[in-house]
Amino acid sequence: MKLQNKVALITGSASGIGKRMAEVFAAEGAKVVIADLDAKASEATAQELRNKKYEAMSVAMDVTNEDQVESGVSEAIKAFGGIDILISNAGVQFIYPIEELPFDKWKKLLAIQLDGAFLTTRACIRDMYKRGKGGSIIYTGSVHSKEASALKAPYVTAKHGLIGLCEVVAKEGAKHNVRANVICPGYVRTPLVEKQIPEQAKTLGISEADVVKNIFLKDTVDGEFTTVDDVAQVALFFAAFDTNALTGQSLVVSHGWYMQ
Ligand code: NAD
Repeated sequence: MKLQNKVALITGSASGIGKRMAEVFAAEGAKVVIADLDAKASEATAQELRNKKYEAMSVAMDVTNEDQVESGVSEAIKAFGGIDILISNAGVQFIYPIEELPFDKWKKLLAIQLDGAFLTTRACIRDMYKRGKGGSIIYTGSVHSKEASALKAPYVTAKHGLIGLCEVVAKEGAKHNVRANVICPGYVRTPLVEKQIPEQAKTLGISEADVVKNIFLKDTVDGEFTTVDDVAQVALFFAAFDTNALTGQSLVVSHGWYMQ
C-alpha cells in the first residue's frame, strides 16, 4: 500500500483519466476526494469506490469558481483531516483554427486549466503548509505542454502554462516538503478525445480513421493510444515519491510521441 493514510483530492475525477487515478489511489490505501463539476457523476464515482470498501467522498466543484474551490477543499479537510495529494486534472478541449476561435472559448479553456490549477493549488497548499506534513501536487499536462498541434491554441497555451506554475510551486513548496510535478500524456481514449475525432474530421475534411491514424497516433513508436491506467500509474509514482529529489519535473507518457 503506497498511499496508506494519505488523502488525495483529484479534480475532474468523475470521468476518464481522473477517475482511473481515483481508483488506483484508493486501491493503494488513499482516502479519495472526487472533485468534479458533474455532481451526480462525482457522487456515483465515490459510491463505486465505497462499494469496494475504499474511503471516498465527492465534492461538487467548478474549479474556475473561487468560492466553490475554497468550500469544496474545506469540506474535504473537515471530513478527512487534511489534503496530502492534489491532482489538478479537470480539463476540456475546443477545436478551432485561430481565425475562428471565439474569445469566450479561449477564456473558458484557460480558466478551467489555469485558474483551476491555481485555485486548487492555493487552497490545498495552505492546508499542507499548516499541517507541516509536506504534500504532492500533480498537474495533468499533456504532450501539448511540450509541443503544439494545429486547432488547439488555448489548450496548448494552457498546458505549457502548467509547467510554469508547477516550477514555481516546486520552488516555493520545497521548504515545506511540498513537491509539484506534471504528467504529460499522449492521446488517451476518454470522452474528451472521443468528442474531438468527428470534430477534427469535419474541420480537416478527412475520415475519422485518418484523424486517429495520421494525426493522433502518427508520431507514436507503435501506433497505440496511451491508457488511463498508464497515466494513473505515473501519478501514483509521483504521489508516492516523498522527497524533494523529484520535484519541478514533467514526465511524458505518450508511446514515444514526444521524446526529450
Ligand atoms: P474527461 O472529459 O473524461 O474528464 C474531464 C473531467 O473534468 C470531467 O469529469 C468533467 O466534468 C471535469 N470538468 C470539466 N470542467 C470542469 C470544471 N470547470 N470544474 C471541475 N471539473 C471539470 O477527460 P480526460 O481525457 O480524462 O481529461 C482529464 C485531463 O487529462 C484534462 O486536463 C486533459 O486535458 C488531460 N489530458 C487528456 C488527454 C487525452 O488524450 N484524453 C491527453 C493529455 C491530457
